[in-house]
Amino acid sequence: MKRLYATLSVAAFFLFNLLCLRYHFFYGYINVFLLLISPLGYIYPGRPVYLMAMFSWVVIFPLGIFTYKIGMLNSFLPVFIFNCLLFGFFAYKKIIDKEMGVRALDVRKEEEKARSLLAESENLRKIETDTRDRELATVNLYLITKKMSVSLTFSDIFKVFSSFLKENFIFKRCDFVILNREEEEQKIASVYSVLQEGIIEESAVSYSYDNLVRRLLNDPGELYISRDTAGGGFEGFGIKDPDIVSLIAIPLLNEKKLVAVLVIENLPDADIEKFRILAMQFALETKKIFLYETVEKLAITDSLTGLYARRYFFERLNEEAQRSKRYKFKFAFLMADIDNFKQCNDTYGHLVGDVILRDIGRMMKESVREIDLVSRYGGEEFALMLPETGIDGANLVAERIRKRIEDNVFRAYDEKVRITISIGISVYPGDGDKMKDLVEKADRALYMAKKSGKNVVCEYEK
Ligand code: GH3
Ligand code: MG
Ligand code: MG
Repeated sequence: MKRLYATLSVAAFFLFNLLCLRYHFFYGYINVFLLLISPLGYIYPGRPVYLMAMFSWVVIFPLGIFTYKIGMLNSFLPVFIFNCLLFGFFAYKKIIDKEMGVRALDVRKEEEKARSLLAESENLRKIETDTRDRELATVNLYLITKKMSVSLTFSDIFKVFSSFLKENFIFKRCDFVILNREEEEQKIASVYSVLQEGIIEESAVSYSYDNLVRRLLNDPGELYISRDTAGGGFEGFGIKDPDIVSLIAIPLLNEKKLVAVLVIENLPDADIEKFRILAMQFALETKKIFLYETVEKLAITDSLTGLYARRYFFERLNEEAQRSKRYKFKFAFLMADIDNFKQCNDTYGHLVGDVILRDIGRMMKESVREIDLVSRYGGEEFALMLPETGIDGANLVAERIRKRIEDNVFRAYDEKVRITISIGISVYPGDGDKMKDLVEKADRALYMAKKSGKNVVCEYEK
């Protein structure tokens, strides 16, 4: 719009000069005057050139008409041309300046755009690095999970976990606290520890975990405490080490029961999420080990009596037999069978019978040494293996067991029951060096015991 205005003004000024020429106005004065005042528009900024043109139309033009008429074309023609050029120059200069200004503004805008693009690309680069980091972390996590998944013991799995932890996290110390699952009251069974720097000394437990575990037993949610936490928190858990500034305890549950706790000290806040993911993976793998242990235990023990199951008993028996063969040791094999147990079941019921079975199993276990093997051989039959024991020792042990059971009053479901057992004995290597023979001979001896009136101990006799 302004460009149009300026062009029109120049054109009008040019027309005015032509009119002056045509009608021979006295032109020289006007032009000189304009020549003088035109630059004024530029000396005072903000006064545009078209005002000058308007001024020449409104003031100079009528003035020209009513002043002197001259015909000296030659004298004012150069002045006219000069004036036109000058006026035109100023008019366009103004526009150009303005355009330059706009352009400068554009340049500024472009620069700003470039800056924002740069920032954006920087941002993208950061996202890319972050993604790569995350990808790397995922790959690492996958690798460590793979490594952990082949571990079958807590110590193995924690070894893998702690080496990963040391490489990828900043922390002070990390503990894996395992609780005892057997007993009613859950107590700490074992603790595995790792320090980022240095080596753990077995005895150097940084503080007692009892309070921590008690708290998690009541409320099995993730626990975060720091020195800055309101109310301290640290004192309540008995943490006195001034180097510990924060602590995270992640409970590991198995069938809604607290089985272990993962505790890490001085983990930076920024790493908590990353650690949580790792801990989750670790928890999954430990669950597998808990399960594995349970299955293994189920396979080797009899669920009613807690004694070794028959299959596992024979595995151990074969190992013992090998050992005895190598060192030329003797060992005794005992077969025990409850007397008239069918009748007992018929009289008191199977539930009472089960309690008696369990009690007899416990009494047998209590009557032998730690190295002796006791198993539930069948329904109400038991088998025992006494390493490094000859016939005399075997008779002594068998008699002790028989007597103890004979003297005991079994109590179950308000019933008081007396029960007896018969025992048959065979001895390695005298009665055979193969397990099959020893079992057969002990069975034969047991049969003799039953035949001779029950509640007796019989050794195999050829
Ligand atoms: P004997 O003195 O000749 O050994 O007589 P018995 O009645 O004990 O005869 P036998 O050994 O043949 O009987 C086995 C009985 O043991 C049969 C069954 O009722 C009982 N029994 C086997 N396993 C279990 C068990 O797991 N629980 C209970 N309650 N009883 C069992
Ligand atoms: Mg039987
Ligand atoms: Mg029996």
